[in-house]
Amino acid sequence: MRKFVKNAFYQLVTRLMIARTGIAFQKNRLQIIAYHGVCLPEDIRFPWVSPAFATTFAFDLQMSFIKRHMTPLSLKNAVAMMKKGRKLPERAVAITFDDGYANNLVYAEPILKKYEIPATIFLATDSIDNGTLFHFDRINCLKYWSESGLVSDEADKKKLADLPDYKNVSIYNVEAELSRLWGKFSHMLDDDQKRLLSPMSWQMAKKSGHFIDYGAHTCGHAILSRISEADRKKEIENSVGKIREILEYDDILFSYPNGEKEDFGRFDQEILKRAGVLAAVTVIRGSNPLNSNLYALRRRMVSLGHTIEVFEAELGHIRDLIGRDI
Ligand SMILES: [Zn+2]
Repeated sequence: MRKFVKNAFYQLVTRLMIARTGIAFQKNRLQIIAYHGVCLPEDIRFPWVSPAFATTFAFDLQMSFIKRHMTPLSLKNAVAMMKKGRKLPERAVAITFDDGYANNLVYAEPILKKYEIPATIFLATDSIDNGTLFHFDRINCLKYWSESGLVSDEADKKKLADLPDYKNVSIYNVEAELSRLWGKFSHMLDDDQKRLLSPMSWQMAKKSGHFIDYGAHTCGHAILSRISEADRKKEIENSVGKIREILEYDDILFSYPNGEKEDFGRFDQEILKRAGVLAAVTVIRGSNPLNSNLYALRRRMVSLGHTIEVFEAELGHIRDLIGRDI
């Protein structure tokens, strides 16, 4: 029922052109979209596919909408304009992806190329280095295997159930036990899990088109405010340094893991500035006027729940007015 009311509401908003009117009047504001993984429409049947993914079908529709109604810019160019205090083009929008899934290059890059839309991909560099799945996907797979009876050892099941929520604690407190469990069960990864959850390699990143830019997302996808200051500094400096060195970039952007207000602080912003990072993005919803803090830029997270109507409403600022739940 709730979903029906929600869809009907957004269809009405779209039909009445309210969202498009909201977009049409945007001047000197940058909207940034945050994607994660991209999968085929039929892949959403897998329970381990994160709701933060988008399907190729939805992504194509969304990019087509952006091409027709907005002005896509690379985040780096947009930030450079904001830094110089220069005006932004009307209806400016930048596309970003967090984490560094191989599926970004396999499924999203051809669509970006088709519409000539630039994008920035933020890499959690440890997984790009060693090919290990991001910790949240390892947890999801292990939980799926446990629930479907594939993990039969009661002690392992208990260890898995007792893993602290990685969003609430230091990731280093989770990694030790998680790595042990992963070492024991990762041979169960099937072809679909490998296809959809694998991180890209540096080789893949180097081969991607010139309209794809890479930024840093820490090394171990560590939520910065949960770890010590020494570790925050290390996570930022090492991930930024690695991308500079391997991809030969001077200018670099950063995305805070988890990205909510409580997940980073002034300390991290100072480290980023000192490391020469141009700007950093969050997942705090909203758009960015010219005088925004460039080290806490707002983004709009787009996921499986975004029909094209919801997507339009999001970019038309309608969802800012009515909140996340409708
Ligand atoms: Zn992330």
